[in-house]
Amino acid sequence: MRVQPTATQQAFAERARVFAETEVAPQAATIDEQQAFPRALIAQAGALGLMGVTIPGTWGGAGQDDIAYVLALEAVARASATVAVILSVNNSLVAETLLHHGSDAQRDQWLRPLATGTAIGAFALSETQAGSDAANQQTTATSDGVGYRLRGTKVWVANAEAATVVVVFAVTQPERRAHGISAFLVPIDAPGVTRGRLIDSLGVRGLGCQDVTFDDVHVASSQLIGEPGQGFAIAMQALDGGRIAIAAQALGVGEAALHEALTYARRRVVFGQPIAQFQAIQFMLADMATNLEAARMLTWQAATTRARGGRATLEASMAKLSASEAAHASADRAMQILASEGYRRGSTVERLFRDVRATEIYQGTSEVQRMIIADTVLE
Ligand SMILES: Cc1cc2nc3c(=O)[nH]c(=O)nc-3n(C[C@H](O)[C@H](O)[C@H](O)COP(=O)(O)OP(=O)(O)OC[C@H]3O[C@@H](n4cnc5c(N)ncnc54)[C@H](O)[C@@H]3O)c2cc1C
Repeated sequence: MRVQPTATQQAFAERARVFAETEVAPQAATIDEQQAFPRALIAQAGALGLMGVTIPGTWGGAGQDDIAYVLALEAVARASATVAVILSVNNSLVAETLLHHGSDAQRDQWLRPLATGTAIGAFALSETQAGSDAANQQTTATSDGVGYRLRGTKVWVANAEAATVVVVFAVTQPERRAHGISAFLVPIDAPGVTRGRLIDSLGVRGLGCQDVTFDDVHVASSQLIGEPGQGFAIAMQALDGGRIAIAAQALGVGEAALHEALTYARRRVVFGQPIAQFQAIQFMLADMATNLEAARMLTWQAATTRARGGRATLEASMAKLSASEAAHASADRAMQILASEGYRRGSTVERLFRDVRATEIYQGTSEVQRMIIADTVLE
């Protein structure tokens, strides 16, 4: 059955759409070209509740549900994939982690600033040898009596360039592998934290991705999230929400590509008629629209399960897998329909084509999503 957003969800998404079209879209090309983290836009997004969409008002959030969240993220991603990812990391991976697992003191210190956009959160799980094999962590956190000493390097930390605080995963009990990983809140300006150079990337170029090194960084026990050894479970729960958000982000990029293709196909005249009248072009447009809509249904289904308090691991993987692949195909077909116009450096379709690719990589590659889905269907 098709999910019908409520008036409240639609009203929130409409505010996000207006923000995206009037404020984000005019800056999208510059963010991409200059690899510029959009600090001013993120502050504006914070004021609109987009940095803490599902966080209750008592903690400074917008108090919306997961459906409103995916609708809003899709709207933002239509304008800029980069801005949507920045929001999704802060919302799903950092703010929601604090909401679900943080202590009241941690929420007091961090959640309100994160949810209002006066602080920006980052999530540092990946290491050189721990991407898909995320449990294979080498970063260590050794107890020193009053807290922990963190040592190790995290790679590809989105938002790092502008972050105030990072959720860092580190091994506290090496013999317990996944059950020996703990999660910590580390201020980016803590002594011993250093950030590498901005990572030059194919797409989503304004994300502020950097490697982050922790060189004997002291972390107070009060900054441990949850219990020692719960870190990996906390990360996986965060990724359930994060993957639904990436599905929404992918849908936005895919829809933007479809829009570009439709507009061009109506306008471009070849062999004496608009190319939209050729069935070969119509079939591409039909497939783009159908695959995006199918993925949207899975995304809304996953968001609905989560809004009802469920874990939604399977639904999140299905949503991310289908939306990222549908969006990739949509950007690819848009490129085909615009042909040389799309291939031109600086064209919107060229940016969408580059931006969409990472949705099949971050927060678990498509192969990892298929592994999760297969594990469940084989149970
Ligand atoms: C733009 C961007 C932003 C990112 N932001 C963050 C962030 O904020 N925080 C963070 O922690 N990480 C972040 N990452 C890292 C990202 O999560 C990892 O790149 C991703 O999980 C894949 O890990 P990897 O690159 O090490 O690939 P690998 O794990 O080395 O995988 C290489 C290939 O092998 C495949 N593969 C691996 N294992 C299997 C298997 N068992 N079966 C079949 N195939 C397999 C993979 O699917 C892939 O195709 C980001 C990455 C990018 C590109």
